[in-house]
Amino acid sequence: MASTLAAAPAGQAARYPVVRNFAGGCFLDGTGRLLEVLNPADGSLLSHVPLSSGAELDSAVGIARSAFPAWSTMPIKERVQIFFRYRGLLQQHLAELASIISEEHGKTLIEAEAEVLKAIELTEFACSLPQIVTGEVLEVSRGVECRTDRHPIGVVASVVPFNFPTMVPHWTIPNALALGNCMVLKPSELVPLSAGRIAELLSEAGLPPGVFNVVHGGQEVVEAICDHPDIAAVTFVGSTKVAKLVYRRGTGNLKRVLALGGAKNHLFVMPDANPDMTSGNVVASMSGCTGQRCMAASVMLAVSETDHIVRRIVEHARTMVPGDNLGPVISPQAKQRIERYIDEAVAAGATVLLDGRNATVAGRPGGFWVGPTILDHVRPDMSIAQEEVFGPVLAIIRARDVDQALAIENASPYGNAAAVFTESGGVARYVTDRSSAGMVGVNVGVPVPREPFSFGGWNESRFGMGDITGRGSIEFWTQAKKTTTKWNPQAGANWMS
Ligand code: NAD
Repeated sequence: MASTLAAAPAGQAARYPVVRNFAGGCFLDGTGRLLEVLNPADGSLLSHVPLSSGAELDSAVGIARSAFPAWSTMPIKERVQIFFRYRGLLQQHLAELASIISEEHGKTLIEAEAEVLKAIELTEFACSLPQIVTGEVLEVSRGVECRTDRHPIGVVASVVPFNFPTMVPHWTIPNALALGNCMVLKPSELVPLSAGRIAELLSEAGLPPGVFNVVHGGQEVVEAICDHPDIAAVTFVGSTKVAKLVYRRGTGNLKRVLALGGAKNHLFVMPDANPDMTSGNVVASMSGCTGQRCMAASVMLAVSETDHIVRRIVEHARTMVPGDNLGPVISPQAKQRIERYIDEAVAAGATVLLDGRNATVAGRPGGFWVGPTILDHVRPDMSIAQEEVFGPVLAIIRARDVDQALAIENASPYGNAAAVFTESGGVARYVTDRSSAGMVGVNVGVPVPREPFSFGGWNESRFGMGDITGRGSIEFWTQAKKTTTKWNPQAGANWMS
């Protein structure tokens, strides 16, 4: 098995050879049209990724199907031994994995390392599954016992976005596989390199060939996933527009689908908030991963007299410097989209407190840079207040009181995250109770629930039942078998038997 990331021969334009699919434990050349993979920090050519066809998907699904009988009947305590070893390999290769992420996505090395650490935590949860999925048993009538245990559902698919090339795939890979399913992963065509290394490390940990497979591509292969009769379940993480398409098409084909979509997260800042803690958290939330997180702060609802905190936030945001502690955005199109939102807001009357448009980084003129941007006096009707920007931009809306702020947050069609900054327990509870989001924080700018708690939003940030990680994922990746047993012929009969 050859690594996907062997360096390209000298003189070749791309830094790495063409990305390959992975099926049955082997890397395979794709046959589809090739897309360029660019390094967002300087625009250089990193590699090419194949746009796989339905036939290539079909072959990977066939391989996964063949692996399913042996894998699904292996006791879960044996299956998770592989993930204990895999966790060790992730730790051992942390620096290397972080460097691949940073190169293909653009995020800083520190952010990329944090992403791998999160993948490790997700893998640790999968290692604990035997302690959690123990089933239930009860004597339901004299001498009659009912038991429930959980079974895998078959070949499943996981379609992932560009913004976390390693963490988001780990929302699904360890749990789905440890619970006995076989998987086809469809990485984002913008960041396809990490998936090959994940596949290699899973194999090195002892995962049998065919249990985990990777098919690269874009819309065509995702549609083929939604249509494939041998794929039992699909998870999708990405924009709301595509989440709706995948959810409709997958459920239309009678599959189990969980589709996580985009976000527009609101932070409520109250006058009594601790200025230092609040400014640190708000800036980290709006600028971490250059604002390309579905949990990023996008709108700040500044309630009543909060000018002193706004000033502190602007000072703090000035310390975020493109090319130093702030990475580029993913593509030239993303840069244009973000700058267009800023232009429109300014034209509509927003006040620019910090302007990240036209950012440049010495020595890297080809990079897709946007600096931290803070706009004040944004109105709820502006596009920047309503739509997902997915860049390092904070839109401040002034609210006279907490109820006005809540009305603005509640009107958003999204519902991933909301957070409140206050020293008052009563106000914190008032806001967390009433905000319309699946993940809420108090004095926490990025309220991601860590394992074993489950990740998932509300409204148009999620389609389908349940959450994607933690205990919530067990229902999704398994089906319950209910067994009723009477061993004793003398057992009494009642109205049920
Ligand atoms: P995207 O929707 O453009 O792409 C996601 C995946 O869908 C990719 O694998 C892509 O190849 C595929 N795809 C794209 N267009 C398609 C189409 N028309 N039909 C079928 N498949 C298609 O998202 P992205 O730009 O890669 O990622 C950013 C988005 O993901 C943001 O909206 C962000 O909020 C969201 N996101 C959400 C969560 C969450 O938990 N809710 C987590 C991470 C990212």
